[in-house]
Amino acid sequence: MATIWQGKVPTFEKLSGDVTFDVCVIGGGIAGLWCAYRLVKEGKRVVVLEANKIASGTTMGSTAILTYAHDDIYHRIRKKHDISVASKYFSDAKMAIKEIVELVWKEKWEIDLEPIDYILFSKKWKGKCHLEKELKTYDDLRHGVVRTKANLPYRTKFAIKCSGSYQFNPVKLSICLANAIIKAGGKIFCGTMVKEAPDGEVLKVGEYSVSAKHFVVATHFPYINLPGFYWLKMYQEQNYCIAIKGSNPDFCKGQSFESIDQKGFEYRRVGENILIDGASFRTGEKPKKSKYQIVERHIRRYFKDSNVTVRYCAQDCMTLDLLPYAGRYSHFADNVFVVSGFNKWGMTSSYIAAGVIVDMIKGELSVDAPFSANIYSPQRNVLLANIIETIENVGVIAASFAGNLVNGNPKCPHMGCNLKWNRDEQTWDCPCHGSRFSKCGKIINNPSTEPLEIIST
Ligand SMILES: Cc1cc2nc3c(=O)[nH]c(=O)nc-3n(C[C@H](O)[C@H](O)[C@H](O)COP(=O)(O)OP(=O)(O)OC[C@H]3O[C@@H](n4cnc5c(N)ncnc54)[C@H](O)[C@@H]3O)c2cc1C
Repeated sequence: MATIWQGKVPTFEKLSGDVTFDVCVIGGGIAGLWCAYRLVKEGKRVVVLEANKIASGTTMGSTAILTYAHDDIYHRIRKKHDISVASKYFSDAKMAIKEIVELVWKEKWEIDLEPIDYILFSKKWKGKCHLEKELKTYDDLRHGVVRTKANLPYRTKFAIKCSGSYQFNPVKLSICLANAIIKAGGKIFCGTMVKEAPDGEVLKVGEYSVSAKHFVVATHFPYINLPGFYWLKMYQEQNYCIAIKGSNPDFCKGQSFESIDQKGFEYRRVGENILIDGASFRTGEKPKKSKYQIVERHIRRYFKDSNVTVRYCAQDCMTLDLLPYAGRYSHFADNVFVVSGFNKWGMTSSYIAAGVIVDMIKGELSVDAPFSANIYSPQRNVLLANIIETIENVGVIAASFAGNLVNGNPKCPHMGCNLKWNRDEQTWDCPCHGSRFSKCGKIINNPSTEPLEIIST
């Protein structure tokens, strides 16, 4: 995927023999790398198995804002759960930012880390109302977020300033983490797709075996369907990003902006570029207009005299109750863990998730920890507690299966859903779980571990 974060990502050899480690992390995106890094720092011998190259998945397409202001999340968590859950989520995010920034400074990692004010704004009355509730929730969390004026090329109804945020280059951070993992005695194998579930302390990877006491599934969307049921309690959402050059040179200096409105835009500076991230849709959803055209029309209207430098789409896993998953994969295996469902905020949440896994592997947090002790527990009651979202999600899955009867689109090798043609990206996308394939059938995004057999154009 060609994104704004181009650079030389180191390649690591493929798995080519049987190996034994303390912990095996499956997936080398930011989440898998944080898990591996935090585990090697605890003295564990860790191996990472990555299907492609490190950071080649969603991490490569991230806007990489390091903030606690995950849209207007706190009043929504308060409504869905309660203020204590909002408070825990907030303190974890603040702690993650502090620890990541301290680590980057201490290790002198060059990841283009810059402090910014993160400005959440809305152009609509409904959004204003949500931001007012958000401001009140920040007050209740005893955190000073203030109302501000958003310096945007159009009028807004309301904006709040979330200081103490940062932006950085996610690929550079991934490379630093990978180097640190290797330096501390860890091992990374790339080009190594895992298709099977661990069986006790052994994972079969093609003809080889990886033996480990613990396994961490950090494959973005978990690839093991049963047990776990992540295919029922998660889906993926895409964003279409366009970077431009040549517009107002002071725009977004020391600030980034995020609209909380449905189909709103996010803006951040990357060197001389302004990265505009918008057109957010469930993967496989087909709007009438081209998704890139939605962003391009916005650029033509508000950022005249600019040139497009790069455009791409990226997607992330969305949970039904706003909280990520970090903990035991399922009741059926105490030594298999999962980190996933970051709801487009994985730059802080993956660090927090890695901390949960470290605590569980060290025995400091029970794998059976109740929701009150681990708000990210994958075993929490997600489906019945979020019945409307569950029905919506099941509805999309059912409609996709029904689609198999009426159109001749290819079926997703993951679970047999009816794939949709994405004319913007020229890919086959799965509306159920977000697997994506090139028009020749090559896997672009998991959870599918098999390519499409159909097409050879
Ligand atoms: C457009 C966009 C903007 C975003 N902006 C922000 C932001 O500003 N701030 C923020 O905090 N978050 C942001 N996010 C979210 C954040 O980027 C993601 O949550 C995070 O990158 C997910 O990391 P990951 O490691 O879980 O997934 P990935 O980066 O996708 O890594 C998973 C890895 O697992 C590998 N893999 C998959 N299946 C297998 C298998 N079977 N065997 C072996 N390897 C496998 C893949 O090749 C991949 O490298 C954004 C997301 C998007 C889409």
